[in-house]
Amino acid sequence: MHFTTLHEVEDAIRACTKCPLAQSRTHAVPGEGPADATLMLIGEAPGRNEDATGRPFVGSAGKQLEAGLARAGLTRGDVYITSILKCRPPNNRDPKREEVTACTPWLIWQITLIKPRLIITLGRHAYAFFQKHPPFREALGTLYHLEAYDAFLLPMLHPAAILYRRQWAEAYYTLWEKLPHILKEKNIPLRGQKNQLTKHNI
Ligand code: SF4
Repeated sequence: MHFTTLHEVEDAIRACTKCPLAQSRTHAVPGEGPADATLMLIGEAPGRNEDATGRPFVGSAGKQLEAGLARAGLTRGDVYITSILKCRPPNNRDPKREEVTACTPWLIWQITLIKPRLIITLGRHAYAFFQKHPPFREALGTLYHLEAYDAFLLPMLHPAAILYRRQWAEAYYTLWEKLPHILKEKNIPLRGQKNQLTKHNI
């Protein structure tokens, strides 16, 4: 398979049957946002509302995400939002390794075409796809460089985490408030200035 536009990838995801989650989903959720976004947000997997609508981060977790973005002076329209798995695991269970293996070539195509300069992972599963060390809790809020994608990585808490553990809310919002400083320091505009990534690895 070869894709030249983000729309082609998104259409292929909607038709994907590469793993058993295709049988239980209502809608696959490819992601949404500007194709020239320089910030890419990557969550874990669609939940109930996302499965019902085909859109990422709607419902209560989506509200928390929008609140975090607002702390950074951003809106959903400024960023591309997607997830590691594009179909909902039953009862929102953790992704299985074989599902991640089957699904993440789609994510790599999205990164290859969008060429983000900063990838923000939301939660431990998205972080673990990009690097194993240091552990997620130690990595939170630290800026790394991902050589394979010529992009920076910023691990963040998943917005749903603060719905269950209110004590994490302060840390969650503090991380979002750091974001404008990181963008300024690394000279990353919101749109249009791509990195130089030209290769993909699938
Ligand atoms: S989770 Fe990914 S690999 Fe599995 S059916 Fe959905 S899009 Fe395809």
